[in-house]
Amino acid sequence: MRITLLAGGIGGARFTRGLLHHLRTSGIDADVAVIGNTGDDIRVFGLQVCPDLDSVMYTLGGGISEERGWGREDETFVVKGELANYGVEPTWFGLGDRDTATHLVRTQMLDAGYPLSAVTEALCARWQPGVRLIPMTDDRVETHVVVDGEETGTRRALHFQEWWIRYRASLPALAFVLVGGDTAKPAPGVLEVIAEADVVLLPPSNPVVSIGMVLQVPGVREALRSTAAPVVGVSPIVGGAPVRGMADACLAAIGVDTTAEAVARHYGPRVAALPAGADGGGILDGWLVHDGTGSMASDASAVDPLTALGIPTRAVPLLMTDVEATAAIAAQALALAEDVRR
Ligand code: GDP
Ligand code: CA
Repeated sequence: MRITLLAGGIGGARFTRGLLHHLRTSGIDADVAVIGNTGDDIRVFGLQVCPDLDSVMYTLGGGISEERGWGREDETFVVKGELANYGVEPTWFGLGDRDTATHLVRTQMLDAGYPLSAVTEALCARWQPGVRLIPMTDDRVETHVVVDGEETGTRRALHFQEWWIRYRASLPALAFVLVGGDTAKPAPGVLEVIAEADVVLLPPSNPVVSIGMVLQVPGVREALRSTAAPVVGVSPIVGGAPVRGMADACLAAIGVDTTAEAVARHYGPRVAALPAGADGGGILDGWLVHDGTGSMASDASAVDPLTALGIPTRAVPLLMTDVEATAAIAAQALALAEDVRR
């Protein structure tokens, strides 16, 4: 069985870890490919940093800081402190010492002319993530956030990382732009692993700045719309709020409510052929929303309207509290994929 996922950082990484656990414990033989978001990538202190690719690689390779959800376990920040002592910007970027080795290897290889996909493969040779991790593109792209400028009527754009980390998403975002996205080509393998998949899964990653950016790479949306595989998504929004992070600030900027239902409507049902050459179109054949137990809010009210819209939807517990709970979510996603298979 071939399973392909589109992933951001922590949500994509943790879901994939649960999926691999489910496959292993159920004795299911599968090739798993993860197409990683590179819109978060940033060059700092001369280092090319790929936060989402690294979150997937470290999480699946057993090197992630569980507590932070990004970067390495047993991390120290000596270099970051020393850079700050020199007054070198940006001081807000969380550069760990162990992590720095990854960025040095990556930057060295990129500067030597290797494409990011080859560099990622080389880094994964150490971490053995158990998946084929492919950056969405080898071309340099960066997500920038358009916000109001200091003077009335003006606007400015800043790197997504600065908006997210330094300003904690508190500056109202007017738009997200994938700089370089228009001309970016999918990395080798990206379109193939979508076309040749038996199942495509969208983990509970940020719909705007993680999965939304992968979808902006020319050709990716079309590949999802034309694959024979069912495409099933897992809601990152539970009870009207992101489980972690500030996805609400991202959704607001694109005019989508922070609900499990609105996110599914935003992705759209994968029905109805578009006129030849038309852009856009929905990508979902199925959707999982959270079924709350106890005090947690439930999104089960989204099941009927979304199913009527053409996105068969089920409510199951969606909190990735540990690997077993996450494996159960992945099992539900695969079961739904089988039931909606055309
Ligand atoms: P990032 O790049 O590190 O921000 O990670 P992603 O984009 O892959 O995932 C971020 C999303 O994961 C957030 O919008 C969260 O709402 C979602 N998320 C985190 N933990 C959970 C969880 O336990 N359950 C669900 N359903 N979503 C989660
Ligand atoms: Ca990210």
